[in-house]
Amino acid sequence: SLKSRTAVVTGSTSGIGLAVARALASDGANVVINGFGDAAAIEKERSGIEKDFGVKAAYVAADLTKGEECARLITEAEKTFGTVDVLVNNAGIQHVAPIEEFPPEKWDMIIALNLSAAFHATRAAVPGMKARKWGRIINTASAHALVASPFKSAYVAAKHGIAGLTKTVALETATFGITCNAICPGYVWTPLVEKQIPDTAKARDMTEEQVKRDVLLAAQPTKEFVTVEEVAALALFLTSDAARSITGSMQQIDGGWVAE
Ligand code: NAD
Repeated sequence: SLKSRTAVVTGSTSGIGLAVARALASDGANVVINGFGDAAAIEKERSGIEKDFGVKAAYVAADLTKGEECARLITEAEKTFGTVDVLVNNAGIQHVAPIEEFPPEKWDMIIALNLSAAFHATRAAVPGMKARKWGRIINTASAHALVASPFKSAYVAAKHGIAGLTKTVALETATFGITCNAICPGYVWTPLVEKQIPDTAKARDMTEEQVKRDVLLAAQPTKEFVTVEEVAALALFLTSDAARSITGSMQQIDGGWVAE
């Protein structure tokens, strides 16, 4: 159980991150949540975690496109709860456009958040984990860490980068009781997916319904979206003692997408 452990989950005010934070709390972890959103809604999620699971939950506002904010998130978590034992690098954004029209500032932002933030946060969290000889680092990658789709150059590049970072950190920490793994979800119904539908429709000259059926679910042999709860259950398993020998791995949870 994660009782007396502390988990930091980046980008956990919504979607997959929120479900992961709740799953880790359900196993007894104190959690630090992070991300953007309406202050009252965030406070409701934070206090809801405390009420539902009898753990402590703190919110740290940090814009993780900035390296020093990633490091501060870890320091604040250590200051609040004493340790960071589980780090879930999950915050991420998407932008869909053909490469010749892809805005360079979107490229920079996606690389900063979807890739570099995981580097900065991991860099800050590893010393404490090494000293205590226990740690779990989980990177929310994507099926797009393993295969590409058109019009997502920055996202696919960042997620392939996360795969490399995951493997490298796993090697460096292997003898310290620390594991580092990537979860590679296919399409999960969250605001991130919902928001890309209009731009995908434009880039592919399709209706939004066609995008859902012929682009998103077409990629998934199951023809169903993955749920945030399924991703959270996998993350929770990776924190368990039973998963101590799983490190440097890419955990596909994609309805068969990359098997095709
Ligand atoms: P989401 O939009 O629901 O959540 C993204 C979270 O990141 C939110 O909490 C948001 O506030 C936060 N965030 C955004 N910019 C930030 C910043 N600058 N600093 C800190 N936090 C920031 O999306 P989601 O689908 O839950 O995505 C979570 C992760 O899962 C992402 O890394 C995404 O790439 C990955 N993923 C999602 C899917 C999917 O189909 N939804 C599939 C594979 C991988």
